Amino acid sequence: MLFSELGLKAELQRAVAEQGYDTPTPIQQQAIPAVLAGHDLMATAQTGTGKTAGFTLPILHRLVSGPNGTSNDRLTRVAKTPRVLVLTPTRELAIQVEESVRIYGKHLPINSLAVFGGVGINPQIANLRRGVDVLVATPGRLLDHVQQRTVDLSAIEIFVLDEADRMLDMGFIRDIRKIIALLPKQRQNLMFSATFSPEIRELASGLLNNPVSVDVAPRNTSAETVTQRVIETDREKKKELLCHLFETRGWHQVLVFARTKHGADALARTLDKAGIKSAAIHGDKSQGARTRALSDFKDGKLVALVATDIAARGIDIDALPYVINYELPNVPEDYVHRIGRTGRAGMEGEALSLVCHDERGNLKDIEKLIKRSIERVVIPGFEQSAHAVPRPAQPPRGARKPAQPGRAPGTKTAQKPGGPQQHRSGSRHR
Ligand code: AMP
Repeated sequence: MLFSELGLKAELQRAVAEQGYDTPTPIQQQAIPAVLAGHDLMATAQTGTGKTAGFTLPILHRLVSGPNGTSNDRLTRVAKTPRVLVLTPTRELAIQVEESVRIYGKHLPINSLAVFGGVGINPQIANLRRGVDVLVATPGRLLDHVQQRTVDLSAIEIFVLDEADRMLDMGFIRDIRKIIALLPKQRQNLMFSATFSPEIRELASGLLNNPVSVDVAPRNTSAETVTQRVIETDREKKKELLCHLFETRGWHQVLVFARTKHGADALARTLDKAGIKSAAIHGDKSQGARTRALSDFKDGKLVALVATDIAARGIDIDALPYVINYELPNVPEDYVHRIGRTGRAGMEGEALSLVCHDERGNLKDIEKLIKRSIERVVIPGFEQSAHAVPRPAQPPRGARKPAQPGRAPGTKTAQKPGGPQQHRSGSRHR
């Protein structure tokens, strides 16, 4: 199928062609006709599937189409209150969605704006006053505007809840409900979520009216384009191992995931000291620092970007070749989100996880979720020691003495000394 077959306005088709796309992704093929037809939509799709264009394009089409396909005189009205509201969980995603609206809407008379916290509210107020058609917002800042009466949501025609699962994880459910209560009853609703948990189902049933369901299997779980590997090692060896990998593999643009903000900072410092230009990106960094780090990374000024899960959500970097899980996430779904940063739009990508003894449970949960075992690789000199003792979550690094054999009753031995030095494929399951 080609974009030209979807019935989108010529201006939109032109913008798509300028991006170099001619074939819609599976989510676009399914979502665009449903949204154009005015249906509510429940889409199970993660970032990397092309979902943003999947909702942006038909929304823009609808905004410039009158009831019978005539041109829409509302576009020429003077004081524009937003007609489309897109809620996103993070600032980064808000910025990226609004960028997409601008890219795809560049040949149309459409104004868009992203509002999010962590930056001054006054410029946002000034922009809202000037008139906005498509408003992209994070929930907290949107409610600030509501409270200050600097935004009017009474003319919203289309409401998009993006990354709904992450919204719930981040505790935004009450804010979302408050916002929904402010919207006109008559509207089109689109909901996107990477997972379809009972909580998401419940939210969807309250929000959506007879929705069309679109389910795009998380592409990365079937590893069509992402090579997934695990290096089993010891916690104490991870930093050195990571530096070794950078040195020996000539990596140039690597997104590294750490579990905590503190851990991300420490790791970025270590890499930097080792001559690998790095920055950390997490929720405690100012918006300016986050945006700068991301653009330096995109521009190739940084070799590594060390991120926490929340900060990395929605980061859209074309052709990101490597994702490293310096630590595995506690929530297995986050693994799928993380590796979704690479291997996008058909590009090859590699996701490498450094797994120490006490993360074996996390690894098992991940393999259960993705329904496959991940290939194990052993790097000589960095093997997991036979006597590693698992320990609970994250005491400060270096606070623990090297494990002593026999100290932890009931602890299983990770791997026999002198074990295989070559690739082992899913050995745990053999
Ligand atoms: P998203 O899932 O919206 O974050 O999009 C992931 C990436 O795919 C973005 O870099 C888009 O620019 C790109 N993309 C979107 N639609 C297409 C398409 N039809 N063909 C190729 N790449 C696309």
